[in-house]
Amino acid sequence: MNRKSFLTTSLSLIGISIWPEAQQKKKYSTSILLGKGKPELYNSDIPLLKPVGVAYLEMQKAANKEGIILEIVSAYRSFDRQKSIWNRKYIRNKKKGLSPEENINKIIEYSTLPGTSRHHWGTDVDLIDGSKVREGDVLLTDKFLGQGPYAKMKKWMDKNAANFGFIRPYTADENRKGFYYEPWHYSYAPIATPMLKEYLALNLKTLLSTPDLEGSEYLSSNFLTKYRKENILGIAKELKRF
Ligand SMILES: [Zn+2]
Repeated sequence: MNRKSFLTTSLSLIGISIWPEAQQKKKYSTSILLGKGKPELYNSDIPLLKPVGVAYLEMQKAANKEGIILEIVSAYRSFDRQKSIWNRKYIRNKKKGLSPEENINKIIEYSTLPGTSRHHWGTDVDLIDGSKVREGDVLLTDKFLGQGPYAKMKKWMDKNAANFGFIRPYTADENRKGFYYEPWHYSYAPIATPMLKEYLALNLKTLLSTPDLEGSEYLSSNFLTKYRKENILGIAKELKRF
C-alpha cells in the first residue's frame, strides 16, 4: 500500500474523506442534461431511458387490464428538435404580427426554450389512450377532461401513475406559474428529480445562448431569471424533493 492510499483508507475509516470532489461527482453530463448527448434509450418505440422504459411498460400492462392502451405521443426529444419547434412557432407567430415579447410569451405557454425541456432527459413522456379513435390534435386539455376521449385514461393515471414513479409536472394547480396545465405529460420522478437537481446547478445563462435561435436577442438576463423560477421550477412539488 503506498502512502497516499494508506492515508485515504485511514481517514475514511474515521469517516473523513480527503477527496470531497469525488463525492460531489456529477452523475449526468451537461450535454445529456441539455439534450445534446446520446442517451441510451429503451428502443425506438419507447424512446425513454432504459429504467424509465421498464417502469413505463409495467404501468402500460396494468392500464391494459382496465381497457386503457397507453400510447406515447412524444418522449425523448433532442436539443436540435426543440430548436426547430421553437423556430417554427416563432416564425409563424411573427407572420401573425406578434411582437418579439408577445411571441416568446406565446411559445412558452406550452413549449420550452431549447436546452430547458424535460423531454431532453429521456424521463418525460406525453401519453394518450391508443384505444380511442385518433382525430386531429391529440394533446388538447379538453380531450382529457369530462367526456373527452382520454378522460378515462387520465382518471386511471390520477390514481395509479405515481405507484409506477410517474408524476405530472404541469398540474392544474392555480398557484403554479409557468407552462400551462398538461394532463398528458408525465415525468419519471426517481430519475427526473436527481436530474433536475444537477440541471439547476448549471450556468444556464451561458449554456442557453444558441446560434440560429429565432428571437434570441430578446432573451434577456431578467427573462431567463424569471423563466427559471416560473417555468423550469413551475412544476409539481413531488418533482422538487431533492
Ligand atoms: Zn410533454
